Amino acid sequence: MNILILGSGGREHTFAHQLSQSSRCDKLFIAPGNAGTAKIATNVPLSATDFEAVKKLVLKEGIEMMVVGPEDPLVNGIVDFFKQDEQLKQVRVIGPSKRGALLEGSKERAKEFMAMHNIPTAAYESFTKESLEAGKEFLTTLKPPYVLKADGLAAGKGVLILNSLEEAQTELENMLSNNKFGTAGNTVVIEEFLDGIELSVFLLTDGKNYKILPTAKDYKRIGEGDTGLNTGGMGAISPVPFADEVFMQKVEERIVKPTIAGLEAEDIDYKGFVFIGLIKVGEEPYVIEYNVRMGDPETEVVLPRLSSDLVEVFEKVSEGKLSEINLKIKEESAATLMLVSGGYPEAYEKGKEITGLNNIDQSIVFHAGTVEKDGKVLTNGGRVIAITSFGKDFKEAIKKSYQNAEKLHFDKMYYRKDIGFDL
Ligand code: ATP
Repeated sequence: MNILILGSGGREHTFAHQLSQSSRCDKLFIAPGNAGTAKIATNVPLSATDFEAVKKLVLKEGIEMMVVGPEDPLVNGIVDFFKQDEQLKQVRVIGPSKRGALLEGSKERAKEFMAMHNIPTAAYESFTKESLEAGKEFLTTLKPPYVLKADGLAAGKGVLILNSLEEAQTELENMLSNNKFGTAGNTVVIEEFLDGIELSVFLLTDGKNYKILPTAKDYKRIGEGDTGLNTGGMGAISPVPFADEVFMQKVEERIVKPTIAGLEAEDIDYKGFVFIGLIKVGEEPYVIEYNVRMGDPETEVVLPRLSSDLVEVFEKVSEGKLSEINLKIKEESAATLMLVSGGYPEAYEKGKEITGLNNIDQSIVFHAGTVEKDGKVLTNGGRVIAITSFGKDFKEAIKKSYQNAEKLHFDKMYYRKDIGFDL
């Protein structure tokens, strides 16, 4: 089977790594890919949101399966685009339809879905420019801190958590009346603050059957001790030690089953991943958000723990026969460490040579923002390399990643030294 992966990060390199190990994978393409994916697949320089360009590539290379990495093409309707095209409708696309993708594309829609299907989440109300005054009034009924969320996609920056009422009211006005997040902030969800510890649960579904994948916890802030600005993610571990059997039972009964039943009841075509951002408050799980694709860097610890043939699993997803799969998960824990460009997530430089890549042992290197030029591997983004390792527990795993990080070098390389140290 010829397979295409859309995307260019560590997540997509991990998909390529897993899929290329399958005997069912013939030719593997990735668009646009990075220096790491070029070693195991054919990189094609096109944008994942340029559907016509994707179509041309699929037809030219006889692609039979397409795995969509990032959210943008999904929210823009790439699955529907394929379904509605006579030449493309046979392609097995791993990802939800546009209606399914709205669970990530609109926070208001996600909250409505949870309310409709009795899925535990923070209490909320949503407001628009017309209801600004009502929104300010609603804030006075809540206790600090105040949680304000731009409804649409805002590259992970659309959530504000504020300590004072005045600040919250000002920011609400900035979002609704002064276009702080552009059209993404035309509607704002204001919700109750939940105090707890976060983790992620991933599902693979064909729309009616599901498999729960390994749990993961990522580290979002740039600074040690979870300080400083939010990033795409600085590291992750899997499984999450505090997500024990009793807790996961609650997650499955109260969240996973009603989520899948909700998709089915609403007749939503959904063949792909569901990423459930959870918060554990006391011993109880609440949903913070849905994403409609895998997380990055969580993919770098979740997928390498699967020992099932991923192509076969995806075939069953696309056929609506996921129940026939007995998903095999490795006992070992995994950890990943993200090496980033100095300055990230603010301004940083690109084009720095990365050395030491051949010296890595006992770990897997997944490339994120890298590019190959004149035989050299150069930095090409904020997040550059993820180093994934295994161990009897995540402490043993992350230790190996740290040992290997010392063997790699690029100008102004930075990484957090405390991944997993809070657990
Ligand atoms: P991401 O970058 O993960 O896609 P996002 O911008 O889609 O994030 P959310 O995941 O909804 O937005 O929120 C971002 C972060 O804000 C969460 O990871 C969590 O730390 C915090 N947060 C969101 N909602 C709440 C809440 N109700 N109570 C406490 N913290 C919250």
